[in-house]
Amino acid sequence: MKITAVGKYGRMLTRLGFFNCFLVREEDGFTLIDANLKGSEEDTLRATGDVPIRRILLTHAHVDHVGSVDALMAKVPGLELLASERSIPILQSPPDLSLRRGEVGPIRGGTPGIVSKLTRTVAEGDRVGSLLAIDTPGHIHGHQAFLDERDGTLYAGDEFGYLGKVTVTGFTPWWIPLKAFSNRDQARETAKKLLAYPVQRVACGHGKVSEGGRELIQGAIDRAKG
Ligand SMILES: [Zn+2]
Repeated sequence: MKITAVGKYGRMLTRLGFFNCFLVREEDGFTLIDANLKGSEEDTLRATGDVPIRRILLTHAHVDHVGSVDALMAKVPGLELLASERSIPILQSPPDLSLRRGEVGPIRGGTPGIVSKLTRTVAEGDRVGSLLAIDTPGHIHGHQAFLDERDGTLYAGDEFGYLGKVTVTGFTPWWIPLKAFSNRDQARETAKKLLAYPVQRVACGHGKVSEGGRELIQGAIDRAKG
């Protein structure tokens, strides 16, 4: 597992060169944004040193973001687990992928579910420590991004990927195998929504962290065609 500093408060943990999760330092310990692939728990705990992980905060229910949730919940007493309310049926095992009224589907991508139950749901505008929750639908239903308001780091989950440039989910080049998105037109609208936030860097579920703000997001929107 590779560890990279992100802004003032974050650490990116990367497995197999392409699967990211993030430790965000808070006064009471770490918030872990996403839990990477199955089997990441030992490396994740090692990356924290002596600082405890207090909570896991999920951007979405895909397999490469929830793989080690159950193992971490079993290993760390008192660990909280947070995600959006819309993610609950998608996270359950087996998942319920039925659509709600008005939603466009289907829900795509690997969603194996987890045994652990959420200890708290997170809604748009909620704060989890220093992180502001933003509903960011498009990649998958219930997807949220989190903005660290202290240093402007946008933990974007899979709303964006970094593929040489920040890229809106679903608008990747044909040779990139990231096709597990549910509604890329909605993802492009979500990117426009994110222009309104004071972003100073973008940290995605896949690929490198990009320093910059609005111009990065605008560039991704401009390239989200076809
Ligand atoms: Zn995903």
